Amino acid sequence: MSEDVETTLRSPRAYALARQAVEAMETHKVWPTALNFELWVHYLTSAKDSPLAAQIEGLIDTGEPFTDSVGESLAAQFLPKAKLDGEILEAGENLSKELDSVSRAIEIARETSEAYGQQLAAAGESLDGQDTGAIKEMVETLTQATRKIREENQALEGQLADTTQELARMREHLEQVRRDAMTDALTGLCNRKAFDEALERLAGDAQTKGEPLTLAVLDIDHFKNFNDTWGHQTGDQVIRFVSSVIARSSSGARFAARYGGEEFAIIFPGEPARNAMAVLEAIREEVSSRLLKRRSTNEDLGAITISSGLAERRQNEGTGSLIERADGALYASKRGGRNRTSCADPITTTRAA
Ligand code: GH3
Ligand code: MG
Ligand code: MG
Repeated sequence: MSEDVETTLRSPRAYALARQAVEAMETHKVWPTALNFELWVHYLTSAKDSPLAAQIEGLIDTGEPFTDSVGESLAAQFLPKAKLDGEILEAGENLSKELDSVSRAIEIARETSEAYGQQLAAAGESLDGQDTGAIKEMVETLTQATRKIREENQALEGQLADTTQELARMREHLEQVRRDAMTDALTGLCNRKAFDEALERLAGDAQTKGEPLTLAVLDIDHFKNFNDTWGHQTGDQVIRFVSSVIARSSSGARFAARYGGEEFAIIFPGEPARNAMAVLEAIREEVSSRLLKRRSTNEDLGAITISSGLAERRQNEGTGSLIERADGALYASKRGGRNRTSCADPITTTRAA
């Protein structure tokens, strides 16, 4: 029907029809708005018994004013384009609500993809019953596409979670391997490799910062004899005992390691020889003051003693030289009678009274 009207309006007769519509509107005190004009043209060209004619003539008969809302209501009912516009508007509102739902869903999906799925389902349901062709189709396509993306996202999230877990496992495994490679199995102290690395790093730091660093080396006295008397396994338990005393005295920045068989080392970053000397003496006293007993047989193993040597790092001194001087001090302790602590340069020895 609207096509008929438009065709008429584009013909030469259209001017006459337009004039006729304006005159009729003026007669019945109807404002010449675009919508009213369209309504009245449509009325004048429609069949005498059409529903639009019946409505307008009913209004004229009762003298009811032709207000904007009356015009809009008639247009929505009888003008195909306005009817379509109304439906589009309604569908648009629905679409807008839909899109709101979807965007809310996307918001929620950032936190939980499950909640996102529920939102999307709700959005789809609210469109059912709407008969708005292309728009509905479009929204359905959008919903489907979004669903597909969601599924892909879920698959990706799954893969990502798996990969993250796998990476965490690998990282943990690598960390464990690294720890194992740096730890002495018998004592749990750092091993020689870890010690070498730590000494290089800490000596470098001391050089850079201009701070002191002291190195101590410790060795169990006459340990060959001990092993020969009590056996290697009991000897191992003694190494563990000495390690535990050393570990307790080496908290904080201090770095303790099992340097070799029955030899240990402690790095004292930021501490002068005098501090280290006090710590070494405390260790020596604690080790020698314990009477060792074999649990299984209750046999008395006597006491063991340790000798130590320490050296404070000199400005620009390399780690090789530092180790050599600390070893020299240890040798001085051994030579001096064992169970004592010596400091290199100048050699000073402290021993039990
Ligand atoms: P010194 O007082 O001069 O140090 O005498 P020592 O007998 O301790 O010296 P030496 O270095 O000649 O001997 C070290 C001994 O330590 C040799 C070995 O029997 C023992 N030893 C080394 N590593 C281990 C170990 O892992 N377990 C046990 N039980 N003994 C070890
Ligand atoms: Mg030794
Ligand atoms: Mg020894």
